[in-house]
Amino acid sequence: MFSLLNTLVEKNREYGKEGKVASYIPALSEANPNELGIYVVDSRGKEYYSGDYNKKFTMQSISKIVSLILAIRDNGRHNVFKKVDVEPTGMGFNSIVNLEARDSGKPYNPMINAGAIVTTSLIDGKDVDEKLEKILDFMRTVTNNDDISVNERVYLSEKETGNRNRALAYFMKSTGVLECDVEEVLDLYFKQCSIELTARDLARFGAVLANDGVIPWTNEKFIPKEVCRIVKTIMVTCGMYDASGDFAVNVGIPAKSGVGGGIIATVPRKYGIGIYGPSLDEKGNSIAGINLIKDLSKELDLSIF
Ligand code: GLN
Repeated sequence: MFSLLNTLVEKNREYGKEGKVASYIPALSEANPNELGIYVVDSRGKEYYSGDYNKKFTMQSISKIVSLILAIRDNGRHNVFKKVDVEPTGMGFNSIVNLEARDSGKPYNPMINAGAIVTTSLIDGKDVDEKLEKILDFMRTVTNNDDISVNERVYLSEKETGNRNRALAYFMKSTGVLECDVEEVLDLYFKQCSIELTARDLARFGAVLANDGVIPWTNEKFIPKEVCRIVKTIMVTCGMYDASGDFAVNVGIPAKSGVGGGIIATVPRKYGIGIYGPSLDEKGNSIAGINLIKDLSKELDLSIF
């Protein structure tokens, strides 16, 4: 496995040149587009890695999985899906027209920005700090890493420039989909997006999802199996935004990307996979990362379909 990963990382690293690192959040523009790393955790907890697997980056949209899980845990799935649908969009992750065009006013799904702002708003807690601690505690448990924390520079950079997200949130406040204080929920959303980790952390989280919510290294039942099923299904249909169909055909694994360059993938009962490659394609997905996981899926016959 190690030599396969080495070969695939070196083969796909050059795709970094064809994409661009995110720059609409200024702090993200400092990333090195040639970096590429992968980490794989199998169902017995064995770990394999190659390339820049130890490089830190921010979760960005991958945090949308966490806010969905916590929103369901705190409110029940019925109450969550009263406020956000589970339909693919075919449009960009921060589309505005997408939101206004719907009669229901509900965002299409929890994997686009509007939908994640809604799930984040549903996390219980007395203030932003307490809610953030819940998110961090969750992440520390599923990664077996107590050092997980927020990158303050990225958080401040996103807060300063996040006017598109502000527009989405105020629109949803006007329609009643968002019931809480808009600036507070945005603050929490920007913080969760700025949680810093490595491909290893993502692979371990992926392994927990692959294992139906049971933590492989402690055997603790941490996320209900039914919640894992829902989350993995939405990852297939919406996790790679408007490239989810192409990803399902060519890779066939539940996955979620973020503009920090991360991809988390979860092969039911087999593998958790974490990838880092900050150069993005035009849809905002890691360009080398997608090509790498496409090759890996083919080599190991990982498609669930
Ligand atoms: N924090 C980013 C944003 O809100 C997350 C988007 C992403 O990773 N696609 O724009």
